[in-house]
Amino acid sequence: MKKNLFIAFEGIDGSGKSTQVKLLRDRLKKEGHKVYATFEPTDSPIGSIIKNIFKHRIEADHRTIAALFAADRLDHLLNKTNGILKKFEEGYTVITDRYYFSSYAYHSVHMSMDWVIEANSLSADLLRPDLNIYIDISPEISMKRLNNGRSSTELYETTENLYSVRKKYLEAFEKLKEKEKVSIIDGDQNAELISANIWKEFVKITKRQDIYARKRTT
Ligand code: ADP
Repeated sequence: MKKNLFIAFEGIDGSGKSTQVKLLRDRLKKEGHKVYATFEPTDSPIGSIIKNIFKHRIEADHRTIAALFAADRLDHLLNKTNGILKKFEEGYTVITDRYYFSSYAYHSVHMSMDWVIEANSLSADLLRPDLNIYIDISPEISMKRLNNGRSSTELYETTENLYSVRKKYLEAFEKLKEKEKVSIIDGDQNAELISANIWKEFVKITKRQDIYARKRTT
């Protein structure tokens, strides 16, 4: 019996998450898997508010943003039309570009990480990723990539902030190492090499799931 997986991609802005989500999705599809690729903030009405805050069209306090993300994530999971839980139950392997570790890292720059973890505990209880893939890159390189061909910067996109966020990511991984499976991947390489390393991590998890499934059925 083979179990479908839930994979979350994490990393600072410009680390290459969306590029890698597409590459993993395409490879899995080619191999005949049912795959659903998704992202946060979502395209829901709550996600739209967040995106407008990022673009500086709406002003909001960091605590408000943290709470909006927690709500957007619950809708991402529970939405009856295209929620992750529905897709997961339908047998899709779900790959998301950002999940709760993004909240732990980005919001805890401004407030207590414990509060952020608690605020997202409903999501964690509903669905924990089989694997969190953190694409590690220096803020200087990511800022260079982000500034390439873009004239405006969104909220969070400064080298100084991305340094803090990266530090918080590593702190969150350490804090939750008993509960969460995290693979840290070097993001300062060409996209194909990164993708090959991610694939190796994916295969490891699949093998572990197979053993788990066999144990459950015997
Ligand atoms: P994220 O989703 O983490 O913000 P993206 O995948 O959108 O990152 O990548 C940010 C920018 O960097 C894009 O312009 C993308 O084409 C480029 N990029 C992605 N991966 C690499 C890589 N391994 N090397 C160089 N540039 C990359």
